[in-house]
Amino acid sequence: MKSLMKEAEKLQDTLVKHRRYLHENAEVHMDLPITVEYVTAQLKAMGYEPEEICQSGVLAMAGKKNEGKTFLLRADMDALPMKEESDVPFRSKTGNMHACGHDLHTAMLLGAAELLKKHEDEIKGQVKLMFQPAEETLSGAKQMVEAGILENPKVDSAMMIHVLSGFPIKTGMVLVGGEGVISAAADWFKITVQGKGCHGGMPQMGVDPLNSLTHIYLGLQNINAREVAPGEVAVVTIGEIHGGNTGNIIPDTAYMQGTIRTYSDEHRVFVKDRVESIAKNIAESFRTIANVDFFRGCPCNINDKNLLDQMKDITKEFVGEDHFIDAGVLFGNAKFPGSEDFAYVAEKVPGVTISISSGSSEDGFEHPLHHPKALFDDSILYVGAGIYANTAIEWLKNNS
Ligand SMILES: [Zn+2]
Ligand SMILES: [Zn+2]
Repeated sequence: MKSLMKEAEKLQDTLVKHRRYLHENAEVHMDLPITVEYVTAQLKAMGYEPEEICQSGVLAMAGKKNEGKTFLLRADMDALPMKEESDVPFRSKTGNMHACGHDLHTAMLLGAAELLKKHEDEIKGQVKLMFQPAEETLSGAKQMVEAGILENPKVDSAMMIHVLSGFPIKTGMVLVGGEGVISAAADWFKITVQGKGCHGGMPQMGVDPLNSLTHIYLGLQNINAREVAPGEVAVVTIGEIHGGNTGNIIPDTAYMQGTIRTYSDEHRVFVKDRVESIAKNIAESFRTIANVDFFRGCPCNINDKNLLDQMKDITKEFVGEDHFIDAGVLFGNAKFPGSEDFAYVAEKVPGVTISISSGSSEDGFEHPLHHPKALFDDSILYVGAGIYANTAIEWLKNNS
């Protein structure tokens, strides 16, 4: 439906308004009261009956009830707990920052909602609009799946958009593909070592958890060096170590936190198991006890081959050959070490991720996502809104 792009373009000013309001009021994790209130109010004004199916997780339905297949469109709404250092006039006033562009995704999906409402009679089935919290903490999609977003009606296929900034890719270019695993599974862990505190001058009276923790740290490096095959990728990173308060006391306990990134279920299970085993056994050999807690994570995000082939045709036709990039070809099916919790949807139903360049490093958008000075060119909002709406309409037409 090529005319949809023209209609989307007419919404551009409104979408900029949405995006900048959300940007100014950036909120994090599951706690998005301002954002949810805004999104819900906008949807109601369009004639939707949005439902908060779990904390800060909003679902709205378009199309014809109990008819045809169901396509899901997902936007994430959460920001990052970091202070913005850009000097845009709509700079965040909450101490949090939309440095990953989720404010753009939310504005785009609101735009799509408006387009879908206008064309509701032409939709051959149903569209679920998924506005989710807590992508950055990898728990929002999981929570919405658990709350039943993929059921009643059952979702047949799903799609998400992520904006890109800081890459040398012309603004407005749309990237689809490659196939299979496109981003890593992530597992966050905490290793707590219990020793026995004592006077720093009499270490024999206690059991030093810092000494034990240091050996565990070194031991973990061997997973990559000696246990993962050359050419295979697994990342074990410790980003935080804590223990003790001063130089002359051996503390009672110490801990470190880290993340594991892997690209297959097999590796995921293996590396988690090795982290636990190395930590516990080294701790024991130093007369301490290690507790290993995996407290957050998500599987690999996967582009479904069949859906991907359809998406490429639908998107190329919609945005035009000159705005389309086959990312599988451009990046040689490269996998990204970042993680994306849409994986919880894509492990249950066929899913595809589409990216839109919203600021090329060659045009002054030099900071990457998650940078306190990251900038996004919101002139592309209508393109995202159009792609969301068009994808759902065309997929339902082709698969009804
Ligand atoms: Zn992010
Ligand atoms: Zn993101």
